[in-house]
Formats: sequence, C-alpha cells, structure tokens
Amino acid sequence: MGIILKGGTLVLEDKVVIGDLKINNELITEIGEKIVPLNDDAVIDVTGKQVLPGVIDAHVHYKMAIGKVYTVDNFETGSRAALCGGVTTVIDYAEPIEGLSLLESLDYRVKEAKGHNFVDFSVHMTISGYTPFDLEAINELRAYGVNSIKLYTTYDFIMGYDTIFDVLRTAKEAGMVVTIHAEDNEIVAEAVNDLKSKNKIGVEFHAVSRPSKAEYYAVERIIDMCEKEDLSAHIVHVSSGLTGELISKAKARGVKISAETCPHYLMLNDEVYKRTDAQLYVMQPPLRNEEERLKLMDEFLKGTFDFVTTDHCAYSPYQKFFANTFFETNGGIPGTETLLPIIYNQTVSANKLDILAMSKLLSVNPAKKFGLYPKKGILKVGSYGDVVVIDPDLEVVLSNDMIHTAADYTTFNGIKLKGYPIMTILRGMVAYRDGKFLMGDPKGNFITC
Ligand SMILES: [Zn+2]
Repeated sequence: MGIILKGGTLVLEDKVVIGDLKINNELITEIGEKIVPLNDDAVIDVTGKQVLPGVIDAHVHYKMAIGKVYTVDNFETGSRAALCGGVTTVIDYAEPIEGLSLLESLDYRVKEAKGHNFVDFSVHMTISGYTPFDLEAINELRAYGVNSIKLYTTYDFIMGYDTIFDVLRTAKEAGMVVTIHAEDNEIVAEAVNDLKSKNKIGVEFHAVSRPSKAEYYAVERIIDMCEKEDLSAHIVHVSSGLTGELISKAKARGVKISAETCPHYLMLNDEVYKRTDAQLYVMQPPLRNEEERLKLMDEFLKGTFDFVTTDHCAYSPYQKFFANTFFETNGGIPGTETLLPIIYNQTVSANKLDILAMSKLLSVNPAKKFGLYPKKGILKVGSYGDVVVIDPDLEVVLSNDMIHTAADYTTFNGIKLKGYPIMTILRGMVAYRDGKFLMGDPKGNFITC
C-alpha cells in the first residue's frame, strides 16, 4: 500500500510544481501531475499546502550526559518533538568514552539511540584534544558509516590550534568533514576571570563572559589554516554577524569553509540576559547584541550560511534555575521542533527568500554536507519518503504549552507565526498530522553515509 499526496505545491530540488507524490515501501516512487491511485493506496489531499523534503537538523544533543545526570530530552522525547516540527532526520553527537576507542565510542552511541529515536539519525564523532587520533582511527569511523567529526576550541574537549591543523589534514585524506565549535578559549578565559575578579558573576554577564571576538578570532585562525593548505572545515552555530562576514569573505576568496547558524541567534538578542528567567536563554556561544543580530540576519539572507541547525540541548527549568551564575548555569536550549516554523516565517512568510532557497537551507544542503544525499534532503523518485507538509496560511502563536520537548518551554514563546507544519511523514509513515503524534514505537533508523 502506498501513500499519495495529491495536488500539493511540491518543492523539488530545482523547481516548485503543483502535483502528486507517491511513496511506497519507504521510498518516493512517483512524482507527477496526476497519479492514479491503485486500490489500496491511501490518498491525502494537500491542495493549497506546500510539500517539502523532511527537515534535517544536523546539530542536536539528545540524552547528553552532564556529570551523572542527562539533559532533559532523551532520544524519545527529543525526536518526537522533532517530528512534530517537520524534522525527519537529526545528526546527534557521540563523545569519546574513556577506555574505548573512537570507533567503540561511536558504536556505543549508535546502539544507545537505536530503538529509541522516532526520527532517522546520523552521528558526528567528537574528538577531544585528549583523545588520540590517527588516520586509521578516522578511516574506521568513515567505514562505520559516518562522515563527520567534531572538534572544540574550548571546554574540556579543547584542542589546540596546531592539533586542529593536523586533524584537518588527516580528515582530508580520510574524506571526513571536520565540524568545529569555534570560541577561542584564551579570550573566553580572560573575560571570565575579569568578571569573576569584579564579582560580576550573575547570568546577566553571560554574553560578556563569551564575547563575540572569541568566536571571530577562532574562526579567523581556522580560515587561515584552510586557506594555507587547501583544507576544509565547517563552523557550527555561528552567533555573530561579524563572524558571518568573515566567513562570507573567505568563501568569496575560494576558501573551503562552510558554516551553520541557529534560529536563536537570528531571532533573539542579549537583552534577555537582563530578565529574571535569563537562565532559560543561556547557551554557548551566547546571544549577541541587537546590532550583531541584525548583521547576522543580513549575512543569513545573503546566503553566507550553508544551513541552519538548532544545537538542541534541552534542560528543564529546574536544571536551568539550579544555578544563578553565568559559569554554573547549564548551557543549551531546546529548538528542533521550532526550526522549520521559525525559519519559514523569517524567510518565506516574510518574503525574504523563496521556498526553494529555504528548503536548501533546511534539507538539501545538510544532506549533501553529511553524506545523506540523495537518500535524504530531497523529493525525488528513489529517495526516502521523508516529507513535511506546511499550511502556509495557518496562524500560530508559539507557546510553551504546544511544544513537545520535555524541557516544556521554548525561547520563542509568544512569537506569532504564519505558516506551520501540519504533517510529517518518515519513510512513508505518517508520524504527525494536525497536531496529533501518530507513530507508536520509535522507528528511526541509523542512516549510514
Ligand atoms: Zn552543540
């Protein structure tokens, strides 16, 4: 039995057409003007609705360990929320586990998620400055079926610039994408120590404690490495317009640098850190001032960023309000479910980008970067039947009540939207429709690349 979506506005890779789309046995089997249903085909009328490839959130942290406890969204709750927002694939993170090799750590994470994810998933493997790595280890990861590693220039995973340079060279040989959390640790440490010495330790100093120049400087160093030896790197969660401009200029010179930004950096500014519930908005890097936010939006609309991710890392209000200093507050916010609604409203509904361009930012481009294309990220015969249907006229006020994350809040509470996902289909299974979650047990697969 197949499913036919009838009469929708189909967002294909290079054009938008009105027509029908059929999914059978997990795959898209037909796209055409009028598909004649067979006896047992289910036909869903989507006239007046937009039919897009399922969204890929290439940066989420589900069930992430923080000491002995976990972030509040486990695989089940995080991925259920994802489907409710039109996301059909996520890329999660595996961290190196003491006593295990990189490959064993990756395998542990994949097995941990299997049977618990409602969406399909892939994984980025974190390599810390303290983890031994060599070409063979990186080749093993590639052979296992992932194509990306993650490095940090800060935190416990910190890796020095010289080692990053080595990893970039090694990864090039292995055909792996290197993604980097770029905030210069020395600049951050200096700002943190300065604030602490003045006893300015409240959450209101969060943005000052991780200044945007830390991001700018780290990205500048990475661009420099890539430019020198024709290497390539991907910068995660760019928070500031100035960094965006730096990346845009490097790209124009032909440097192989790619980057993602997140909805919160585009929509919110650091004024929220003055609020009494400021902890709910603490993430790293922090939100920037209004001027930088506007510049980031400019760069985003100019096409500087390859895609948008959420860095979904959800804490409950309890976990958030547990501390009230900028250095003890758990950093991270929920986001996957609101990725498509927010970006759709900032681009398509706002008449700033067309739906084809938006779909590239949310589906096609991340699929290509992380080796999931053309299985994922595109509506095409032979690709997985991953679909999100958007009602362009549906008006919604985002609220904490309607959001499905176990964090029970959204940083976009109260924002008015026009256009919202009404149906999500994962490999031919209608998982979410008109506000109802329909997938019984988690059926997400690990997708190799
Ligand atoms: Zn992250």
